Amino acid sequence: MKRLAVLGSTGSIGTQTLDVIESHPDDFTVELLTAYNNVDRLIAQAKKHRPDTVVIVNEDHYKILKDKLSGLPIKVYAGLSAVEQLIAMPGIDMVVAAMVGFSGLRPVIKAIESGKDIALANKETLVVAGGIINGLVMEHGVKIIPVDSEHSAILQCLTGESDNPVEKITLTASGGPFRNYSIDRLCNVRPEEALKHPNWAMGNKITIDSASMMNKGLEVIEAKWFFDIRPDQIEVIIHPQSIIHSFVHFSDGSIKAQLGLPDMRLPIIYALSYPNRMSTDLPRFDFRQFNKLTFEEVDTKKFRNLALAYKALEKGGNLPCAMNAANEIAVEAFLDERIGFMQMTGVIEKIMDGMKYIQNPGIEDLEETDRFSRIAAGEYIQKIVVK
Ligand code: MG
Repeated sequence: MKRLAVLGSTGSIGTQTLDVIESHPDDFTVELLTAYNNVDRLIAQAKKHRPDTVVIVNEDHYKILKDKLSGLPIKVYAGLSAVEQLIAMPGIDMVVAAMVGFSGLRPVIKAIESGKDIALANKETLVVAGGIINGLVMEHGVKIIPVDSEHSAILQCLTGESDNPVEKITLTASGGPFRNYSIDRLCNVRPEEALKHPNWAMGNKITIDSASMMNKGLEVIEAKWFFDIRPDQIEVIIHPQSIIHSFVHFSDGSIKAQLGLPDMRLPIIYALSYPNRMSTDLPRFDFRQFNKLTFEEVDTKKFRNLALAYKALEKGGNLPCAMNAANEIAVEAFLDERIGFMQMTGVIEKIMDGMKYIQNPGIEDLEETDRFSRIAAGEYIQKIVVK
């Protein structure tokens, strides 16, 4: 029986993780659930899954959470510092890090330092602080397993290969809803169009990142830290059907790929049970429904975010941190209809060009870079909105 903490339990990955746990009651149990804001869903999850402890990060919701769970043997806390303390509880074997954004970094560090294995869905952790995280993982002898479908695919291809040399990896991208749009048309797309992803059901932030290709950019950076490979060994192609989740090319010319229907519950259960596989009753692939798997080159003139991410990866230091912060602010502004779809890239580029570069940042440097970049991005957006 593996005892789990699910951070960000009310989000898309969090709820699907609880689905997986529910369908394998003899293998997994939930000890800790944390959510940022969605108190109603957290209450429902707590009643159903009966964790030892729940935390709501936004302290305004503490009273209602406490009231609604009174009478149940569940401990209730509020605030980010409570998350960081509780994550170190002895009764937890693995932490599913499914919260969105930079704020996921501290809790993940805390979890590693207290010896927990991590199932990592929060991209920003490795994008921003991959070097620091990998150092801590080594020091504390824990496992960090990807939940993201592409990185899960690569891990599955590499499993059993020990040190066999890898020539390169290919990350697949669906291309999102706008893959065939012209630049002119992209300038005028609205948030509700961008939120309609053709293949995957995901949260708002990652759905916009998918449409703008920043999601793939973040994944390229993540891949470097997960698999210790150089930027020039990471290739991205568009694969609109989202059936092949990624490829690994070996030095003998052989290629391995992992396939499956686009359903996040599959990489989630692989991360929870790694290196074993569990039986599931998830829908099965049928080639009659997918008799054509196609591939296309990414147009980085149209989707410049991907080129920016490669630049951040190559330069390293705190540049990926600045890029990520600017992107989070740009996505918010786009969702609020303050800036257009194509303007998001302009915001990110502006912040990356103007930031103070630090080659070997510590955690405090990264927190500072994050804060400054957010402020700078907000101010720049204000300026372009007024015009
Ligand atoms: Mg992905």
